Amino acid sequence: MKKIGVLTSGGDAPGMNAAVRAVVRKALYHGIEVAGIYHGYQGLIEGNIKDLNAGDVGDIIQRGGTILYSARCPEFKTEQGQKKAIEQLKKHGIEGLVVIGGDGSYRGALALTEKGFPCVGVPGTIDNDIPGTDYTIGFDTALNTVIESIDKIRDTATSHERTFIIEVMGRDAGDLALWAGLAGGAETIVIPEVPVDIDGLVKRLKQGHERGKKHSIIIVAEGVMSGGELAKMLKDRAEIETRVSVLGHIQRGGSPTARDRVFASRLGAKAVETLLENRGGVAIGIHNREVVDYELKETFNKEHKAELSMYTLSKELSI
Ligand code: ADP
Repeated sequence: MKKIGVLTSGGDAPGMNAAVRAVVRKALYHGIEVAGIYHGYQGLIEGNIKDLNAGDVGDIIQRGGTILYSARCPEFKTEQGQKKAIEQLKKHGIEGLVVIGGDGSYRGALALTEKGFPCVGVPGTIDNDIPGTDYTIGFDTALNTVIESIDKIRDTATSHERTFIIEVMGRDAGDLALWAGLAGGAETIVIPEVPVDIDGLVKRLKQGHERGKKHSIIIVAEGVMSGGELAKMLKDRAEIETRVSVLGHIQRGGSPTARDRVFASRLGAKAVETLLENRGGVAIGIHNREVVDYELKETFNKEHKAELSMYTLSKELSI
């Protein structure tokens, strides 16, 4: 293999840049050329492709977002779109592709591999929802952003003796809410992996209040319902007044944490090594602190599982 490509796709995540840097520099270290594909699969179809040298990825390890930009591309889901993409890759002399993104992006990578073009997936999403890896790039930074916000909201909750509902991202996964809830000392965590029990929630809030607890923090994952919906339920069901904070896109931005930079560097480098072994259709991940690789297909056959013992622990600790 003489030349590989790299793109970022789907929702951006802090640390994607560190992964791009690792891919480019690891490839150059092995004497392989690298093409940057801009705007994800959309840019691939349109031929928005430029060779990258070591300097092009300088000064980006600490930056959030992605210098390659990202996009959603419905056309790429079609046969015709994928054919156009492969034509572009061939035209630019690219022989293997590193796709940094979430599970949607992985489906695209698998589709290209099945058409004979080797792709490797690097997990980049704040949702931490890709099966087969303990960790996705961006999760740690997003988690720390959420914690910082919870701490600030807690100041107001305490001062005004109020119950706050904080809505966090995560798509269909509860990881961000779960980790943030435990780390932020939330009284209640509402995640998609555990059936919602409004009556139980009301009971806990009332019991806490009777014990003298004057404020509470409830973390709700966007995959369950919005903060506004939960607030309405508590009001309608038990006349409980709350304030709602929707953290929104601040969770996706910011300078990546050291952990995200380290994992992004290790995962990006491993993706290059995998392509150099002429292996496509592979996903890179972290399992028990080791960098691992496994069949891309596995990510669609398996289910991502949140660590539910943390949910139980959070309940035990927030009495
Ligand atoms: P993420 O990668 O963060 O999960 P999306 O689900 O939006 O984000 O996927 C990103 C892009 O990956 C889509 O815009 C599309 O171009 C491509 N993609 C998603 N699903 C498929 C699929 N089933 N087949 C081919 N490409 C897909």
